[in-house]
Formats: sequence, C-alpha cells, structure tokens
Amino acid sequence: MEYISLKNINKIYPNGYHAVHDFNLTIEKGEFIVFVGPSGCGKSTTLRMIAGLEDISNGEFLINGERANEWGPREREVAMVFQSYALYPQMTVFDNIAFGLTLQGVDEDVIEEKVKKTAAILGLTDYLDRLPRALSGGQRQRVAIGRAIIRKVGIFLMDEPLSNLDAKQRVTMRSEIAQIHRETGATTIYVTHDQTEAMTLADRIVVMSVGYVQQIGTPYELYYNPVNVFVAGFIGEPPMNFIKGKVTNGKFKFGENTIDITKVLGNKSKKYEGKDIIFGFRPESIVLNAQNEAYKINATVELTEMLGDNTNVYITTGDEKPILKVDPHDAPEIDEPITFYIPFKSVYLFDGETEKVIK
Ligand code: ADP
Repeated sequence: MEYISLKNINKIYPNGYHAVHDFNLTIEKGEFIVFVGPSGCGKSTTLRMIAGLEDISNGEFLINGERANEWGPREREVAMVFQSYALYPQMTVFDNIAFGLTLQGVDEDVIEEKVKKTAAILGLTDYLDRLPRALSGGQRQRVAIGRAIIRKVGIFLMDEPLSNLDAKQRVTMRSEIAQIHRETGATTIYVTHDQTEAMTLADRIVVMSVGYVQQIGTPYELYYNPVNVFVAGFIGEPPMNFIKGKVTNGKFKFGENTIDITKVLGNKSKKYEGKDIIFGFRPESIVLNAQNEAYKINATVELTEMLGDNTNVYITTGDEKPILKVDPHDAPEIDEPITFYIPFKSVYLFDGETEKVIK
C-alpha cells in the first residue's frame, strides 16, 4: 500500500539556495529506505521536510494519499533519531525512554510495561537504572532509538544515527537496527553518507548528488545496474574503475591496449563510433591472465594490499591507475607485468558527455 509520497518536492532556503530539486519517491508501509550521498547533497533537508521540521518550498507531500505539507510533526506521526543522542543526562535510562509517554500522561503501569518491552528489544534491560554517562556510545544510541520506537508512530526517521560511534560499534549497531526493523516492521527512512550502511540496511536506496536524485533502487539494482557514472562510482568498495577513451572501429583504445567492445555496444556500435566513452569495471570483475588478444589488458603492479579475504592490487595501464581485487592466493608481485580481461557482462560503458550508462 502506498503510504508516503513525495511528488516533485523542492527546497529553496531563504537565502535562495536550491538544496533539493524535484524529489519523487513513493514509500510502502514497512519499507526501509536509505538516502545516501556525499555531504551537502540534500539528504537531511529532505528528511527534515518529511519530518515537518522544514517547510516544503514546492511540490506535494502525501501521507496515506492525503496532502500533508501543512501538517505538524505530531500529525504526521513521525519519530526522529538524530546523530547526537540528546539524552537527558540527569534522567535514568528508564526515564529517558519513557519521556515521551510521561509527557502525554500515559498510565504508569502502561509506561512500565512498554519501557520494559522496548528495553528488551534493545538489550537495555540491565541498564534501566543507569544514567546516560554510565553507558557506552552504542548503548546511548540504543536509548535514543528506544525513546523513538516506544511511541506508536508511523515513520521512523534516522539522520546519521551511527556517526558518533567508533567503527566496531557502528557495525554492531547497524545489525541491531536491521534487527529492530525486522521486529517492529516500522516504516523507516535513514540518512547516511556511508554506502556500506546503505547497502546493508536498505530495502531501497535513494542515491543523491548536489540536490538531485540520481537513482532509486534495491541494493542489487544499484550495484549491478547503475544508471550513471556517479552511482557506479559511489556504490562499491573499492569503487568502480573508470577509463576515458574513444571508440575506433568498435574497439576501445587506451595506452597500448585495444579492447574489442562491439559485443558490449551491440546495436549502439554505430552511434558511438568515434565518440568519447567511459569504460567502467568493478575491481573484482576481472580475470587474471588473459588469453584472448581481443580483450587483453596489459598492466604493471604498483602496490598490493592483503586484506585477508582479498587483496587489492594497484596497477598502472597506459595513463590509468585502476584497482583490482583478487584472491590473495592469486595476488601478483609488485613490479610484475600482468594481463587480465573483463568478461562482457561486467563491462559498463557510459556516454562520455552525459555520463549516463549505454544500454
Ligand atoms: P546532507 O544532509 O546531504 O549533508 P543537507 O540537506 O544538510 O545535506 O544540506 C544540503 C545543502 O543545503 C547544503 O549545501 C547546505 O549547506 C544547504 N543548507 C542546509 N541548511 C541550510 C539553510 N538553513 N540555509 C541555506 N542553506 C542550507
């Protein structure tokens, strides 16, 4: 069922800055949506417009099919978890979680039952009597989440909730947030600049860049079918390699390498003959030791990084410096000349001018 709709939403700040352009998205009940993109691309602004904390300059915001642009945060039934936990330092964990219900004058017995249930979901049962200063960062963030999920709301909005935690806590808390979502089934919109968080948590991801939505899709769709260079380069670690060059007689030439791309271009071969394109491939989508001359790339190894489950191989080929990701057992030596090829299905070609994928 269509729950929330954003139709051509725009944000122009009073100083004239156009922070969000024509944002379109429909969210189903229970979905976990992640807004991802570099700092300043308009994620928080969009989230705050959904929360009712920021005016919508243009466009329509609907909840259950009703126009909600003018509704306050309470009417929208949203709860927000911010980057800073903003707990009350003089209140116990119990009172912090209970705060919203206490304000509403909910019965004490009901509050007690709800706080205990929420604490159990979050693994905070043993900490209810503690003050926030006696908790770790991860536990504090759980209290902040508890305070949000104890109220019966329609939408959870989370703005970079893990950014104050250290790397290890972030990974733990990330899986806990996924677990909480499975248990509560609550519609969630989550903002992050971290593509790993987006990939691991989201049902659907909205990739943004300088105020524009670039692509909306499942993690799988974004990884395997990116619509442009920006999305292809943003999702994946290390990112996709890009090489600029021209199509000549159906071949892509760079440095000493000539790769036959007629099969990848298919019926677009004629259109792109003589044109600039961008040749993209993921670090892991390569096969070492190419046999077929038509697809062979020659390179020299500059540096290798053994990461345990794989090795990143930094190479030079022509003027380009792509990164390959290989099994540590296959890792070449530094300064060793190597050859490799990229299977057709793993080659991405982008228009050199528009940077859109060539399909
Ligand atoms: P993100 O969450 O993706 O980091 P924001 O939504 O916070 O980005 O900001 C988007 C853009 O809008 C940024 O360029 C930011 O500087 C600008 N911006 C944010 N708040 C205001 C404001 N109150 N007035 C003017 N510009 C703002």
